[in-house]
Amino acid sequence: MKEYTVEEIKNIVRPRLGEYVPLELFRILRIIGMREILGESSGAALYMIGKKVGNMLGADNLDDFKNRIMELKIGIPEIEVVDEDHIIVKLYECITCAGFSYTGEMFCDMESGIIAGLLEKVYGKRAKSTQKKSWSVGFNYCEFHVLLF
Ligand SMILES: [Zn+2]
Repeated sequence: MKEYTVEEIKNIVRPRLGEYVPLELFRILRIIGMREILGESSGAALYMIGKKVGNMLGADNLDDFKNRIMELKIGIPEIEVVDEDHIIVKLYECITCAGFSYTGEMFCDMESGIIAGLLEKVYGKRAKSTQKKSWSVGFNYCEFHVLLF
């Protein structure tokens, strides 16, 4: 199986439909399709996918990190650097869960992975991100706690 680069997939020729798709389609693929196919392992798999995406895109510093997340419309991040190993990222308007009603479970694993993957590039360390809040557990934003090691 071939591996494709970000550069290769960037060439979009859709003169009538343009480069955007409805968020509803993304959520069908992401929340219904992937979870159904991957089952119980979907959280871990989506996190790994996100991490790979974050690593591929990369970021040089925290401003760059913010811009990447905004440009890709993953959400609107607010960063709190707690200490040299801990970062809290609040994500407003999360691509996956913003507007979701209470379900009692959190499932923004891909976003969590993207955040970790990007921060690994910012700090040149490994990163582990854990989701702590979500629309689906009663908040109006998503929150991720990141450990750098
Ligand atoms: Zn979310």
